[in-house]
Amino acid sequence: MENANILTPSPNVQVGPATQHVGIEHTATVDRDSRETIGSIRVHDPRIRCTDVHVYYSGDCAINNVSLDIGKNEVIALIGPSGCGKSTFLRCLNRMNDTIVNCRVTGEILMDGNDINGKNIDVVPLRAQVGMVFQKPNPFPKSIWENIAFGPRIHGLAQDKSELDDIVESSLRKAGLWNEVKDRLDQPGTSLSGGQQQRLCIARTIAVGPEVILMDEPCSALDPIATARIEDLIDELREQYAICIVTHSMQQAGRVSQRMAYFHLGDLIEVGDTEEVFTRPKHQLTEDYITGRFG
Ligand code: ADP
Repeated sequence: MENANILTPSPNVQVGPATQHVGIEHTATVDRDSRETIGSIRVHDPRIRCTDVHVYYSGDCAINNVSLDIGKNEVIALIGPSGCGKSTFLRCLNRMNDTIVNCRVTGEILMDGNDINGKNIDVVPLRAQVGMVFQKPNPFPKSIWENIAFGPRIHGLAQDKSELDDIVESSLRKAGLWNEVKDRLDQPGTSLSGGQQQRLCIARTIAVGPEVILMDEPCSALDPIATARIEDLIDELREQYAICIVTHSMQQAGRVSQRMAYFHLGDLIEVGDTEEVFTRPKHQLTEDYITGRFG
């Protein structure tokens, strides 16, 4: 467990609000036994609105009655000890839990007024609208160009090769990778470094025009320099997308997020402005976690 007092930024990473603090004011006022979410679960301009979400694996409850908004132009970080349900909740947001046998999701998850779990919802366009970047970069065993062009082609987003070229270039530019790969687009995606592969995967997600990008510990397989590059990129992408990131690193949550949601044993314990949660946690469990007493 890392200590919130050492929120040291990686090289080149802009210092976010929470990084400016060196200590925590001990203001926790809600005791450990309360499982009611503390803080602002709602935002003014949500892209996704979750209400009373439960997730069960073969009857075992992994997410218990969670309500939370994912806001436009924000990075929200999901934090908490291993096994508390962060990834399970993230996967609810684009129905990736559908791929897990015996996983059942209840509650309401609204996007543009429609419940994404509704019978009429096609998961293929949903997963383009709510894209996902995984822990380990997973480029297709194809060229760099094909990695990006594949999605737009199957979603019918381009009429011809020249339009695909444009999408490939703009996606790689947005992911900060264009200058590094523009002369080797025909080479395999897997020939890139780990950090470049992760930016390729981000470009692939961007290429199909998402509104929300989900990231499940996107830097955990990367070195500090590659991590810094991705964190810079996340900050830039926030201008266009809603971003929800799972991270086990509180330093990273402090650097990249504006809002933070703390989970504990499937309960959403506390949500709030990242700086506020770091410096003045209101729930005893949040305070225990961010001060390193638990986790
Ligand atoms: P976190 O991302 O916070 O580490 P997870 O969402 O991976 O937590 O896991 C939450 C709980 O759900 C844990 O108890 C875990 O064992 C359980 N779980 C996760 N994935 C599965 C699965 N595919 N099948 C059964 N149980 C699972």
